[in-house]
Amino acid sequence: MKLYKIKKSKIDNKRGLYATKDIKEGTKIINYIGKIISNREVEESAKFDNNKPIYLFTLNSRYTLDGDFHWNTAGLINHSCSNNCDYEGKGFKVWVSAIRDIKKGEELTCDYGFGFDKDYKQFPCKCGTKNCCGYIVRAGSRFRINKKFAISKKN
Ligand SMILES: [Zn+2]
Repeated sequence: MKLYKIKKSKIDNKRGLYATKDIKEGTKIINYIGKIISNREVEESAKFDNNKPIYLFTLNSRYTLDGDFHWNTAGLINHSCSNNCDYEGKGFKVWVSAIRDIKKGEELTCDYGFGFDKDYKQFPCKCGTKNCCGYIVRAGSRFRINKKFAISKKN
């Protein structure tokens, strides 16, 4: 049985992935699949012209994984400022793992890891968690949007 199912997401009203059972921290949930392309292709192709950075993973100094395909189910995972999963890579493989225990029925979420730049407002975040900074920006850069993220959180 798969650890996830596709369901309409509360975050962006499109589809997302939901846990079908309780998942322990550290569990590999799904492979992030796509096509391996050279970093030069990324630089030169119009397809990657800034609007879809969320599907690209730099694998090493020469290659990138492009996950922008309908058969890449992991590409449906939404960003959250309090994500319960994260991307992990080794060699040419990327997968999504639980970074804390996840309860059955919870939506699976990742940190898209966007850097902070002048275009950050292009990507508003609708995760709705109390840690939401309003935009899809990686955890380490959120203090640039809101000072309260400068202090490490005590939960
Ligand atoms: Zn958010």
